[in-house]
Amino acid sequence: MHPIAPHWLNFIDGQWTDSEQHLSIHNPGTTDLVATIAQASVADAECALQAARRCADSNALNRVRPAQRVTWLLEVAAQIRAITDEGAWVLCQENGKSLRDARDEFIEAARYFEYYAGMADKIEGKSIPLGDGYIDFTVYDPLGVSLQIVPWNFPVSICARSLAPALAAGNAVVIKSPELSPLGLCVLMQAIERAGLPQGAVNLICGRGREVGAYLAGHRDVDQIVFTGSVGTGQSILRSAAEHAIPSVMELGGKSAALVFPDADREQLISSVKSGIFFNAGQVCSAMSRLLVHRSIYDEVVADVVAMAEGLTVGLGQDNPDHTPVISAAQLEGIEALCRRAQQQGAVVATGGEAISGLSGHYMAPTVLRDVTAQMEIAQTEVFGPVLAVIPFDSEEEALAIANGTVFGLVAGVFTQDLNRALRCARRLCTGQVFVNEWYAGGIETPFGGVGLSGFGREKGQEALYSYVRTKNLAVRIKGE
Ligand code: NAD
Repeated sequence: MHPIAPHWLNFIDGQWTDSEQHLSIHNPGTTDLVATIAQASVADAECALQAARRCADSNALNRVRPAQRVTWLLEVAAQIRAITDEGAWVLCQENGKSLRDARDEFIEAARYFEYYAGMADKIEGKSIPLGDGYIDFTVYDPLGVSLQIVPWNFPVSICARSLAPALAAGNAVVIKSPELSPLGLCVLMQAIERAGLPQGAVNLICGRGREVGAYLAGHRDVDQIVFTGSVGTGQSILRSAAEHAIPSVMELGGKSAALVFPDADREQLISSVKSGIFFNAGQVCSAMSRLLVHRSIYDEVVADVVAMAEGLTVGLGQDNPDHTPVISAAQLEGIEALCRRAQQQGAVVATGGEAISGLSGHYMAPTVLRDVTAQMEIAQTEVFGPVLAVIPFDSEEEALAIANGTVFGLVAGVFTQDLNRALRCARRLCTGQVFVNEWYAGGIETPFGGVGLSGFGREKGQEALYSYVRTKNLAVRIKGE
């Protein structure tokens, strides 16, 4: 347990700065007040943006030898590792997630900085042959100011996922933290402050999305927007970005399906379902929210999943249970309403289906809905909670049609011992990533992103770095040849 400061500030142009208004942050597991934080106004957002603009225009991150950016990023990683225990406690209290998962977020954040430190001095262009009389080559320039709007479900690791490559490529950054869970990002910012980056390179503000988020997204001094969040907000940001033709990376929602064939390893499957839909109380964009099961094993698999769900321990994040609260009362109400409507449409609650009674926080019971059909609302809409829709299928063709039959396309999974079937299905699944025999099998090294309304652009891996640069070609005529 670490004492938590009662009031937190924004970080603008190298200074910790208060605002006129404050936001209260509550523990989702108890509803107790954790702390207050400065609620940035539009004027504060403007200051943060102009600080980043000055840093980008001075080229402070880019005129140095690339080895200096390697040093900065490695120092950020070391500082994150040093504050991991304290940061994890804060994140667990404000977000409701388990202390173990909160720690993993900080460790993952450090890993992003280490990973992209390894690339910061390897952003190399190409030489393009044009015959005698010319030398032609490309260089990768930073974009300038990157605006990064972060959601509440994994605020620290999602922030590091885009911040590290943006800095590695030499951009200055403004981060807009989520109103419901901003404190862990302040701890991350303390680590960044200690690493000694140029002034204004990283700015952090917490403010209302519709007010300061929208203001920044429509600002002509922003050169790139990286957004992770809901589809509706992403679409509104894209409309703003269109005004100035600003490049964007959009990581939006999902309704991801696992295809389970009769030869699937049952133990591997159930352990994947456990993390796939119940990790972080299902508040994961790439959650396994649809389980498509071959009809010949449907009843057995439902029974195994229900037994696993009913065996999960439930409690406060700090006690490291299997199952933790969802972020807010509104989130809980929305999840319960979706479950009620699913039943009206014919789905059957195999377990859960409503809030857990007798607890003061926002606890949704781990829920398994059976007899779901592909077109039901619960099979088409992102729940963002611990609710699994189990759908039967009779053939591979039908399973693929159901899996691909939503507006989303983030990830998918195939569970089978038949390699040919696994690879055949993987090719035909319209998603940015496919897992075979283990949900979340990728890592920070593997490109991640969506198809359709799940968004575009890729985060993670080497590929992501190239979302943070623009290519310039230099075509040179040489005299005398
Ligand atoms: P959200 O869209 O409500 O908010 C995300 C962020 O956008 C917050 O910081 C919010 O303040 C800001 N925002 C809200 N309105 C805005 C506006 N008009 N202009 C600019 N900024 C605005 O999403 P959320 O509730 O925080 O997160 C849950 C959603 O995020 C889910 O749909 C989930 O699938 C998605 N998500 C996706 C990924 C991914 O990588 N694909 C990861 C996590 C969450």
